[in-house]
Amino acid sequence: MSKKLSRRSFLKSTALTGALTSLLTLTPGAREKLIGDGAASALEYPRVDKPPYEVEGEVGRFDNRNNAHSRGYWDESQSFYMFGPQGMTAFHDTLRNIATGTPKPGFDHRDLSLFMSSALMFKIGSFAASHLWEPELPPGLTQPYTTTPEEAAQTVKMAAKHFGASVVGTCKLNRDWLYSHRYHVENWKTDAKDLFTKVFGLEKGLLGPVMTPEERKKLQMPHVDDELPQEMNNVIVCGIEMDYEAYQRTLSCVEIAETYRAYSFDKFLIMHLALFINYMGYRAWPFGSYGPGLGIPMAVDAGLGEMGRNGLLINPDFGPRLRICGVITDMPIQPDKPIDMGVTKFCETCGLCAENCPSGSISKDNNRTSEAVYSTTNYGVKKWPFDACKCKAYWDDHNISACGNCVHYCPYNKPKTEMHKLAAHLAPTLGSTLVKMEKMLGYSEPKDVASWWAQDPNKFFPRSTKK
Ligand code: SF4
Ligand code: SF4
Repeated sequence: MSKKLSRRSFLKSTALTGALTSLLTLTPGAREKLIGDGAASALEYPRVDKPPYEVEGEVGRFDNRNNAHSRGYWDESQSFYMFGPQGMTAFHDTLRNIATGTPKPGFDHRDLSLFMSSALMFKIGSFAASHLWEPELPPGLTQPYTTTPEEAAQTVKMAAKHFGASVVGTCKLNRDWLYSHRYHVENWKTDAKDLFTKVFGLEKGLLGPVMTPEERKKLQMPHVDDELPQEMNNVIVCGIEMDYEAYQRTLSCVEIAETYRAYSFDKFLIMHLALFINYMGYRAWPFGSYGPGLGIPMAVDAGLGEMGRNGLLINPDFGPRLRICGVITDMPIQPDKPIDMGVTKFCETCGLCAENCPSGSISKDNNRTSEAVYSTTNYGVKKWPFDACKCKAYWDDHNISACGNCVHYCPYNKPKTEMHKLAAHLAPTLGSTLVKMEKMLGYSEPKDVASWWAQDPNKFFPRSTKK
């Protein structure tokens, strides 16, 4: 064992001792709540009746056209406007560096190929999974499958796990979380047409014309309320885990590739789940990162976690290292209750995501607000302001198409071990002590990309779900 590992192991056991000591300092009531009857219940969070976010006044329905990704297709004032002179700067720089034999570490030919291929199903799936899927009963069946809402919830959750969900929950659809209008996915559809041509050997043009930049600017979708029937009021929300080791290689193509692999994988999951629901006799609208609404508040409502300072879902098992997707349906399903993890309290003392954000997009102070501070945010829910355009500009100007620092540096981003889950439970109580421990233990030191490629393939991902 290397000297560094021995030191880290020693520090970890010391830290665990400290954590357990802190556990003993809790009041008997709090400790009982935390420990319960044994180790298993100790690591469950309490279910609560009210979701752990604060709504102030009316909630604004967000127009997806204003999302930073959507703006890349129409907003000429942004450096990341795709068809402008600066569009995709970092991507073109990377190609040039490879061609001249001077690639940056983590951005060589092999790394770039992994990233570019990882988005395949993302593009093709976004093309296919962005509309209402009508019920399709097998021949001979005339009635939808009926059961109790409780059993229906159990059934769809098992189906979601069967199709690869890392976590799954259910909730009633709060239409405040739906976009007013969709936009982004229409662009993915047009981008996907070339890939369809390649993958399925189709004649170019068979799928219809590709939108011009001018047409993209003018694109106007119908109101989501006219697209999504009112009876579609239940949501199955799923999370796809992203590889911990890939996210240890922050600011590299391997990390970006993992982001897009998860986006691709969620399309696999939601299309299969939507089809399952159709065969059961119900309507399904699969959704991924492009909507028709905001996945994170739906995930909070479904008891999958809370939103952090970084604007991401913080999940009990995977922290912010999850991609959110799911299916909206009219199948009667029992909703889950939200959970209370105390994330907001810990975020107030932590701030590591803001400290390590290379673009300065995450707020460093503790003033959360329900106002729409930036054009990319909606109003009504109290949260830390987040400048998504600044973030997206950093990606496209410096890091090809993504960045994972706000996932990598978050103390909730840990392998799924009992020790780390215990530490997450203690986080709101330990506060700044845990932040100091996080730095001292060296969890945040990024690893080199070559060591990711050199891992034993047969012991690889999803490692954390095995623990
Ligand atoms: S993705 Fe990177 S640039 Fe964007 S908010 Fe997170 S850390 Fe900052
Ligand atoms: S890094 Fe810290 S402040 Fe940021 S989301 Fe994670 S816990 Fe909250």
